Amino acid sequence: MLNFKKALSNRAFAGGLFFAAFLYILEEWLFHSPQGNFFKIVMVFRPADEVRVAVLSALGSFVFTFLFVSAALNSSRVFQAIYSILFAVSCLVQYGFWRAVQRFMSPADLQIAAATPFDTWKGAGALYFDWRFILPVAGFVLLLVLLGETRMRGNHAAKFGGVALFVLALGFAHTFTNKSLSLGASLPSFYQTITRFVIDNMLPMNREEIRYRHSAAPENNIVLVIDESIRGDHLSVNGYARETTPFLDALSRTEDLFYNWGLTVAGATCSHPSNALILTGVRPGLDDFEMTRTLPTLFQYAQALGYETHYLDAQTNTFWNGLTDADVEYIDSWYKANDLGNDIQSDFRAADLIVQIVSGGRGNFIVLNKRGVHFLYEGSYPPEAGIWGPVPGEYTSQPALVTNPYDNGVRYNVNTFFERLLQDLEILEHTTILYTSDHGQTLFEDGASWLHCNYTPQEATVPMILIGMDLPPVDTGYRASHSNILPTVLDLMNVPADQRAHPYAPSLFSASKNMVAERFFLNGSLRLIVFPDQ
Ligand SMILES: [Zn+2]
Repeated sequence: MLNFKKALSNRAFAGGLFFAAFLYILEEWLFHSPQGNFFKIVMVFRPADEVRVAVLSALGSFVFTFLFVSAALNSSRVFQAIYSILFAVSCLVQYGFWRAVQRFMSPADLQIAAATPFDTWKGAGALYFDWRFILPVAGFVLLLVLLGETRMRGNHAAKFGGVALFVLALGFAHTFTNKSLSLGASLPSFYQTITRFVIDNMLPMNREEIRYRHSAAPENNIVLVIDESIRGDHLSVNGYARETTPFLDALSRTEDLFYNWGLTVAGATCSHPSNALILTGVRPGLDDFEMTRTLPTLFQYAQALGYETHYLDAQTNTFWNGLTDADVEYIDSWYKANDLGNDIQSDFRAADLIVQIVSGGRGNFIVLNKRGVHFLYEGSYPPEAGIWGPVPGEYTSQPALVTNPYDNGVRYNVNTFFERLLQDLEILEHTTILYTSDHGQTLFEDGASWLHCNYTPQEATVPMILIGMDLPPVDTGYRASHSNILPTVLDLMNVPADQRAHPYAPSLFSASKNMVAERFFLNGSLRLIVFPDQ
């Protein structure tokens, strides 16, 4: 009792406790009670062990906030400035994320940020600024001025290092417990996310090996095209009113060549997790996302079966799609954004390159990450290719106009890409093309102020089209998802059922419309969401 009184009279202890409570209450108020709502759901709907993890994680986050503030109060003025900067950065980023996507930053966001060219950030920057981050920062600085020490007590390094160790411990705790948890106020969740991101990237992948080998050389070419941010219901080949894909529309009337599953569900609404799921066949809702780090990739299967593997990335010069340097050995040729010109015509050059590769022979497996149609959409086509207008001056305040530049982008990018790829249909005699997009877009519908990486069905709606000759019969009435891609490619490679590393989803060659299963996708923090099928 005596000790407790003594502790409260300690400025660092009392100030730390007070400010941590203040920060939590302020953010619950500013963001309409995110922690409260989360716990309401967890307590009622989740099993006991998840409840325990959530409670411990929430307590840990609060203790972290308290320790951070009291360590700052105990530091000299110089160190207080460093703490203030660390605090301000976390508020700036988290409040920005909350404004743009109504959640805090996730490791997937960091993965994307690391791979996103600076120009794209300049475009999206305005969506990610919330001036209210100044409120807690001003409070923090005021607290330090009023209650802080003017010189540090004890050892500098020990105090600062203690906080760093604690962040690391929190990150570890999350890495080995529940991956999708990132609890607490802006400050603890920000540093937790960064720690988890660093740890996740340091842990080795250890993918399962494919030991099976074919005796004969492969006789076909397989091309998997993964577009960027192409929403399935904005393609005229899927019934969209504007003629965004006239080339595919015409091709779709060619019998025995074109198979279209219509609106398909993406595995995730963020690029990085979505691509990782596609390449490994991991099924949201049935498998743990972590299996994207251990299951073999399509490149491994392809190489084991004698294909020459090609990876074309029109977006970046580094891996960003769940692959790491350990996966390089399974890729025979890797074409990066710089190799493809890194401009709005990159995808067309990629199409030319694919034609060149598949015209040269058989036994090629190609994955293309297209550049697609990126925000700001008017930057993804030349001005003379603008068919629909006007372009909104400000996206969030003129949501009705957003489809104009987006549809122009789809028409210019997707339609021209296929024109270039299929100039000569003869390549289809020994080449099969599977086309999808990593995720859709909100297009600012229904008051959405974000682009993707969130929970709306529009962000998870993508195309799924198969183009090829002499293929086994398919039932395009099946409600497809990204999980069907890997097993479909394995069928095209003739991988026997007993040589597959995992019970994958059905292949598009074996799926029929009578097979009804719930379809799921993951949001940017890897929470599972049910796709609302009618
Ligand atoms: Zn994407």
